[in-house]
Amino acid sequence: MKHQLVFATNNLHKLAEVQSKVADQFKIVSLAEIGCHEDIAESGTTLEENASIKSRYIHKNYQTNCFADDTGLEIEALNNEPGVYSARYSGSRDFNENMDLVLAKMQGKTNRKARFRTVISLILADKEYLFEGIVNGTIRTEKSGFTGFGYDPIFEPEGYNITFAEMDLEEKNKISHRGIAISKLIEFLKSI
Ligand code: IMP
Repeated sequence: MKHQLVFATNNLHKLAEVQSKVADQFKIVSLAEIGCHEDIAESGTTLEENASIKSRYIHKNYQTNCFADDTGLEIEALNNEPGVYSARYSGSRDFNENMDLVLAKMQGKTNRKARFRTVISLILADKEYLFEGIVNGTIRTEKSGFTGFGYDPIFEPEGYNITFAEMDLEEKNKISHRGIAISKLIEFLKSI
C-alpha cells in the first residue's frame, strides 16, 4: 500500500516533481487536498525555522506525515541577503522589483558570489529530519533569459555561462538547490 505524505505547498510544479520520483512508494498530497487553506505564517528568521514551522503546523493540526520546503538566495557581499526574505525582498512579491533591488545593491561590488539554498523539513512517525540543497553561482550585472521564476534571470550557476533563466527547465531541476534537496529526501524515503 502507498503511504500518504503531505507536501506543505500548493505549487503544482513542485508537487509533480516529487511525485514523479516516488510514485511506487508514496502518494504526495497537497495542502488543498487535505483541506488546509490557512496561510501558514513564515515568521522564522532562518530557512530551517520556516520549513519546520510549516511541517510542524501540518503535523500538529492534521496528524499526518508531511514535509515542507523553504528557499533563499544568499549573496555573500550582502551578508547573505535576501536569504529568508527572498520572496518579498523589495516589499512586494514582484520578481522584477526584487531583482532590481538586488542589482541596485550589487552595483559596484566585485564579489558577485551567491548561492541558492533549499531546506526541507520532513516529519515522519513523529520525528523531524532536515535535508539541504545548495547551488553555488554568481550574480550578473543585468537580467538575462525568460524561463523559470524568481531570481533566475540574474543567477549564473557555477560551471555555466548562462543564467538559470536561459536554461532548459529539466536541466535546471537536475542541478538546482531544490533538485538536490529533493533528491536527498527521496533517497531517505527509499531507504526506509
Ligand atoms: P520558496 O521558499 O520556494 O517559496 O522560495 C522563496 C523565494 O525564493 C521565491 O519567491 C523566489 O523569489 C526565490 N526562489 C526560490 N527558488 C528559486 C529558483 O529556483 N529560482 C529563482 N528564485 C527562486
